[in-house]
Amino acid sequence: MARIVVKFGGTSVATVERIRQAARHVKREVDAGHEVAVVVSAMAGKTNELVGWVNEASPLHDAREYDAVVASGEQVTAGLMAIVLSEMGVQSRSFAGWQVPIRTDDSHGAARITDIDPTELDARMKAGWVPVITGFQGISPHNRITTLGRGGSDTSAVAVAAAVKADRCDIYTDVDGVYTTDPRIVPKAQRMTKISFEEMLEMASLGAKVLMIRAVELAMAQKVRLLVRSSFEDPDAPQVAPDGTPGVPGTLVCDEDEIMEKQIVSGVTLAKAEAKITLREVKDNPGVAAAIFGTLADQGIVVDMIVQNIADDGATTDITFTVPDSEYDKAMRALKGAGEKIEYGRITGAKGGAKVSVVGVGMRSHAGVASSMFKALADKGINIQLITTSEIKTSVLIDEQYAELAVRALHTYYGLDKKDE
Ligand code: ADP
Ligand code: ASP
Ligand code: MG
Repeated sequence: MARIVVKFGGTSVATVERIRQAARHVKREVDAGHEVAVVVSAMAGKTNELVGWVNEASPLHDAREYDAVVASGEQVTAGLMAIVLSEMGVQSRSFAGWQVPIRTDDSHGAARITDIDPTELDARMKAGWVPVITGFQGISPHNRITTLGRGGSDTSAVAVAAAVKADRCDIYTDVDGVYTTDPRIVPKAQRMTKISFEEMLEMASLGAKVLMIRAVELAMAQKVRLLVRSSFEDPDAPQVAPDGTPGVPGTLVCDEDEIMEKQIVSGVTLAKAEAKITLREVKDNPGVAAAIFGTLADQGIVVDMIVQNIADDGATTDITFTVPDSEYDKAMRALKGAGEKIEYGRITGAKGGAKVSVVGVGMRSHAGVASSMFKALADKGINIQLITTSEIKTSVLIDEQYAELAVRALHTYYGLDKKDE
């Protein structure tokens, strides 16, 4: 007997019919003798609709009320899931974040979970109940409803799994696992049977939205085994792992040691809507970079790639970096308004970049991945604007219109394409 936390994403609970199908997966685990807790997202599209209403009400709304509104989607699906489970003969009740309670800090819209009290959940599960918990939300030290940021239900699920000391956390979604790249862009993408936490962390932070970054971070820190699988599969089908051994289908996110064959490149990711900003002729003094990025941080703007170059005159430098397209205007305003604090000649920038990355733990021990990546892109005539690397990834910024082409080219180049069946 195991203790499992299962999470269903938006498409898996998009209609009452879909909730019924998801509930059958839960019932299968309960019937097999496992203790189960469920975490749900809002119905697909619901959170976007709620965000739209808040912005329509006032573009300069109070972040606490934003959270009060957008957290409501999960309350609906939690209640519906509990009803459907009860109807199937599984004892169940819903829990809103505050009822658990799932405590968070007070960064509304991007709150962090600080603590989950497992007492009630634990007691219910031991007594054969299935608690259904709203994902994406918690309660602040000031007793206000908070939300964890888009895609946050993954994080709720991992945090609940850690709190109740679950053996596994199953993330049910609309794909049957983690693929070598987004299967919607590259139909030849392959499902991985296992992926290491480190690689998954890079892939999530580089644009593979199948798991939220913080969920992977938390799973890695708390040693929660994560399984990504599809809710669209027949709940009554035999549970068989992708390699044919009895077990569970999907992709297991686990420690690197559990993975026998280490790929040099295991995945390719894409993040669109990246804006590039360049400050030219910046005074080359100590503290300049701190002033520039401090100004942006004060505005809550997250900067991604950064490149600094010494200019021809030797006294000034050029600094280029990227921010999300949605933060571009705010960043330009902040830098132009910084006055004396930052001395520079000119500022230029453009929206519409795409960051394409290759990820793999094998890069640690293999030289030449970056250069082969640049060659593969050059062969397709794609110009590289910026480059960043880390131990297990190489990223380039390119024009958004070549994004899909680049992802497909790299996927083929590194031998990741599925062989024709
Ligand atoms: P949920 O609503 O269940 O949380 P998401 O839409 O957040 O689901 O995440 C699942 C989606 O992630 C898939 O439909 C797929 O298009 C996308 N995706 C991006 N990169 C990958 C990848 N490498 N492997 C699998 N899915 C990916
Ligand atoms: N419903 C929230 C969102 O759409 C949280 C989630 O689905 O993970 O972002
Ligand atoms: Mg998601």
